[in-house]
Amino acid sequence: KALKLIVTGGAGYIGSVCTARLIEAGHEVTVVDDLSTGHGDAVHPRARFIEGDAAETAETLLGEGFDGVLHFAAKSLVGESMSDPAKYWHGNVLTSIRLLDAMRKHGTPRLVFSSTAATYGEPKESPIAETAPTDPTNTYGASKLAIDHAITSYARAHGLAAVSLRYFNVAGAYGSYGERHTTETHLIPLVFQAATGERPHISIFGEDYPTDDGTAVRDYIHVVDLADAHLLALKHAAEGEHRIYNLGNGTGFSVRQVIDACREATGLDIPAEVAPRRAGDPAVLVAASDKAREELGWKPERTDLIGIARDAWEFAQARRAAKS
Ligand code: UDP
Repeated sequence: KALKLIVTGGAGYIGSVCTARLIEAGHEVTVVDDLSTGHGDAVHPRARFIEGDAAETAETLLGEGFDGVLHFAAKSLVGESMSDPAKYWHGNVLTSIRLLDAMRKHGTPRLVFSSTAATYGEPKESPIAETAPTDPTNTYGASKLAIDHAITSYARAHGLAAVSLRYFNVAGAYGSYGERHTTETHLIPLVFQAATGERPHISIFGEDYPTDDGTAVRDYIHVVDLADAHLLALKHAAEGEHRIYNLGNGTGFSVRQVIDACREATGLDIPAEVAPRRAGDPAVLVAASDKAREELGWKPERTDLIGIARDAWEFAQARRAAKS
């Protein structure tokens, strides 16, 4: 059944890919984005676009009657969350509470929320299951965890059908929709900058981790697989329940493996240099996503690291061509 949906943050990386997949599946999408980090031209041409704050806009818009909200809009820089926590408590937590209140007021039945592996903090088990303790090590993760708690209690008390999806390392692109952050902190786009000479080399943050090659291991998931989990979450969301699912490939790749995959995908000899560890980076972060597989019927299809790198590279190349 075609649903009438609001996508907050639909001009951002994951929100724009999700919007494209939702529209292609026949849903009717209104994107709300304040363009603080998103890009107007990343909004799908068949989406209705309203530029504005997620909460403020939802408060006026939800009265029109919507089947659900996919809430991507958020501040997501870990370092910034430590130096400017107010931006995260206001921008993430307060905004989301206001959105929940507006949904309650207007009887909007479904919510899919972008949560994160950062809610778990330093892992005590690997792979990480949803039952693992949540002990975030940064304000970004704490703000997302606080929202998850709020959603749980709203769902129980007010009958909301809610799903939180905890993303691990999202990568890749979907045609013209991809990662284009002004402040780039993510490994794969930075490796490409080293590939094109935009930066002299890629720094490998730490080579003395207790892993096979000494570099940190992460779970890289293709953004299209991630987006498709959102469509399944909408379908399986159940009234009065807040379900939480981890989304990852289930396979860890080291920083060196990622750089090698990027060398393979680009055909370029990308210079890399070992640098000190980045503060707060755990050695290994890998998802157990069995719950999403079992309950949502989700299965990541684009698990090959070189394939993920290739899609991201094609997008980065097209962006570069568009800019020059
Ligand atoms: N990383 C790196 N060099 C960089 C950026 C990241 O070695 O220039 C490492 C980082 O330490 C982590 C992995 O790459 O182990 C993924 O980092 P990213 O920031 O992409 O995602 P995170 O896992 O921190 O959410």
